[in-house]
Amino acid sequence: MPQRAILLVRISDDREGEGLGVGRQEADGRTHADRIGWGIAEVIVENDTSAFKRRKVRLSDGSSALRVVRPGLRRSLELLASGDRDGLLAYDLDRYTRDPRDLEDLIDLVEQQRVPVTSVTGSLRLDSDADITMARVMVAVANKSSRDTSRRVARKHEQLAEQGKPGGGGARRFGYERDGITVKKGEADAIKKMAEMVMGGASYYDIANYLNANGPMPVSAERWRERSVQSILTGPRIAGLRVFRGEVVGPAVWPAIIEREAWDELQTAIANHMGHRRRGALTFKRWLNGLLFCGLCDTALVGWSGEYWCATPKGGCGRISIDDELAEAEVERQLLEYLTNPIVLGRLRDTVSESATASVRADVASDEQQLKELAGMWARRELTFAEYQEARAIIAARLEESKSLATSALPGIVRPLLADPAGKWKGLQARDRREVAKAIIPGYTVAPSKKGKKVFDPDRLVLRE
Ligand SMILES: [Zn+2]
Repeated sequence: MPQRAILLVRISDDREGEGLGVGRQEADGRTHADRIGWGIAEVIVENDTSAFKRRKVRLSDGSSALRVVRPGLRRSLELLASGDRDGLLAYDLDRYTRDPRDLEDLIDLVEQQRVPVTSVTGSLRLDSDADITMARVMVAVANKSSRDTSRRVARKHEQLAEQGKPGGGGARRFGYERDGITVKKGEADAIKKMAEMVMGGASYYDIANYLNANGPMPVSAERWRERSVQSILTGPRIAGLRVFRGEVVGPAVWPAIIEREAWDELQTAIANHMGHRRRGALTFKRWLNGLLFCGLCDTALVGWSGEYWCATPKGGCGRISIDDELAEAEVERQLLEYLTNPIVLGRLRDTVSESATASVRADVASDEQQLKELAGMWARRELTFAEYQEARAIIAARLEESKSLATSALPGIVRPLLADPAGKWKGLQARDRREVAKAIIPGYTVAPSKKGKKVFDPDRLVLRE
């Protein structure tokens, strides 16, 4: 349980008219933290009036790019990465970010450091592959609707600027002749092929290799690189869209190589694509996190790279560690033994907390709400039908599961276990294993290893009071 978590709230332009001010976000956030047992060490207020305003920033390689600048969000990522803070509680996914890049940064943190992340409404969840895909789809959709708003605002700027004419000077654009308007057949075909490859699951790397072997070559470089493939496919230019200050401001005078609708689908595919490449690496595996404590300084041990250790970046002493898989196997053995003991079973029936059921009910309500929102998005054409179906299937499956949990007297994960502990345990996901373990045992203190003892010693795991 994070005890030094960040609560991130946002002052925004209240575009949904729901008037959820910062004070209310903070109060709700603190109530939620109490309910799930988190400690909030710091409230960070993101003071921006739109989650989708861009500024020109200089990147580390010296080039410049248009980026959404959100100092509060960047600071929270920094604090989490350094281990100064141990969890992130936001109000909801939409208030966390509408920029896929911010989401990817957070996913990286969750993936690499297993930073716990949650939100008051339940919409920000990154615990499983399905959660992550869902978050990506939701952010891609929010991003698109933000772009549409920006586009309307920018339209009057655009009138003052240029009437959809290509900008003069600079290098020729891939896919078009020097005039910036006439389509160059061979290159346009290559762009269509690239898009087709992405939709078929190819990576930028595959596409760069393919083009380097088959041509045509890029305009001003010797060879294709992943980045040049990416910049062509994600650039609105190929959809016949005019960009002004990093925003799509409307149709351009040049023709599209990829039609607008297909280009939108391509952007969603690109947003989801990374999810497939990362598959496997993301699964939450270390289920003893939060259950093992240092025998020297009593800090909770962290599962990391083959062992649970008293992590110094998290405030530990760094002097205690234990092999992760062997510790898990030992605790698993003990748990299964408990589960066959009638006294333990009886106590389990009594003590399975009501709060667990309450949180399951909250999940059900939030999933039902999300389904409604999705249907609305589809009706307003903010989602294609394929996106709607994909997102819907994910939520519906989760909802089904939550509902079966909520209706049982015991949390649904524990009840089937009682009938067949050994068999059902094997099929449990890490997250559920941890929940079961927490319902049964108070955790273990890990004693220092005895001098000279190299093999795994189960006696080091001392059950806590
Ligand atoms: Zn320690």
